[in-house]
Amino acid sequence: MSGGTVIVGGGLAGAAAAIRLARGGAPVTLLEREEGPHDKICGEFLSTEACGYLDELGIDLDRLGAVKIDRVRLWHRHHHAETRLPFVARGLSRRILDARLLEEAARHGARVQEGVRVRGADADGVETSQGQIPADAVLLATGKHDLRGHPRARPATREGYVGFKMHFRLPARHVARADAIDLVLFDGGYAGLQRVAADIANLCLVISSDRLAAHGGEWDRLLAATLEEEGVARWLADAEPLFAKPLAIANLPYGYVCPADEPSGLWRLGDQAAMTASLTGDGMAIALRSARIAAETRLAAGSASDYHRAVREAAGTQVRRAMRLQRACETPPLRGAAMTVLRAFPSLLGLFAKTTRLPA
Ligand SMILES: Cc1cc2nc3c(=O)[nH]c(=O)nc-3n(C[C@H](O)[C@H](O)[C@H](O)COP(=O)(O)OP(=O)(O)OC[C@H]3O[C@@H](n4cnc5c(N)ncnc54)[C@H](O)[C@@H]3O)c2cc1C
Repeated sequence: MSGGTVIVGGGLAGAAAAIRLARGGAPVTLLEREEGPHDKICGEFLSTEACGYLDELGIDLDRLGAVKIDRVRLWHRHHHAETRLPFVARGLSRRILDARLLEEAARHGARVQEGVRVRGADADGVETSQGQIPADAVLLATGKHDLRGHPRARPATREGYVGFKMHFRLPARHVARADAIDLVLFDGGYAGLQRVAADIANLCLVISSDRLAAHGGEWDRLLAATLEEEGVARWLADAEPLFAKPLAIANLPYGYVCPADEPSGLWRLGDQAAMTASLTGDGMAIALRSARIAAETRLAAGSASDYHRAVREAAGTQVRRAMRLQRACETPPLRGAAMTVLRAFPSLLGLFAKTTRLPA
């Protein structure tokens, strides 16, 4: 292992793999292009599986100020269905969580270099903004962003999606609000709203590019349309936006699952391995699971193909199920019928939440 393992990207997948490899005694370098804590597009809903993996990594969510979420409310055209989640989830800002994971990786002996952008990579090493670094294996954990020369194949039938995120400081009267996630379904997408700290809520939206065009491509108009739904308006009507403008990302390749034989010889982790429907709030669990499989495979001297086969097996079915659910929510007649059924039998919502989880 002359060059050791080089990990590109210090989000959940990269940091978690670095912790596990360093704990296993393997030399590991992690390169993250951003310097210091930063916000990321994400609904910040930590499913019970994600919480379990974070616990394995020594992350104490209570100490980081994560809030508990145990109810879900689904809204559509002023009607809603509400039920208890079949598990307790958590809400926590990625700015806090990702920084804590990188700190833990460094504490276990990983060489964490922030402010280093990787420009190219192959199985033997990476080219960075600060020179070349040789490696025995390169783990690609760049998340939603593809590294130049290594794009993910876009699922052919999917239209383009755009994601937005904005944090809001809640007025004092909402600080003790019930711990629920509000999901608002609208044509071509959905919005998720939940607390991520005692007085901060995260609003995250996913919308198809053509529906966004119908809002003039503008965040303000999209937000105004979202605020027409009571499930959002009652929390955000007089809340204070905390970013100068929303974080946004386009061309999300939902439904992508990496091939078993990755031609480049790189190991794809996290969103680079599989990209599930955000609506189900399990992308972070997949990222953390992929990190565990990658570290275990690497520590057992397995190959990139061994790893990709295992990660496809672990996440493929769940991604397909989640995508079917997302599609159904986007199809007006199905969505209307589903709302009618869910209002009559809200506990079915919990069942949907369960069936789109990663299998244990
Ligand atoms: C709109 C939306 C809402 C979502 N909501 C949820 C949710 O509520 N719950 C949930 O579980 N999942 C959710 N997800 C999914 C979740 O955000 C991802 O699955 C998860 O962040 C993947 O982690 P990752 O480590 O693969 O990537 P990321 O967390 O994106 O980390 C990638 C890292 O790589 C770095 N990087 C990128 N390029 C380079 C480079 N060239 N050189 C060096 N560093 C680089 C980036 O700066 C970043 O820090 C959502 C996704 C979207 C799009």
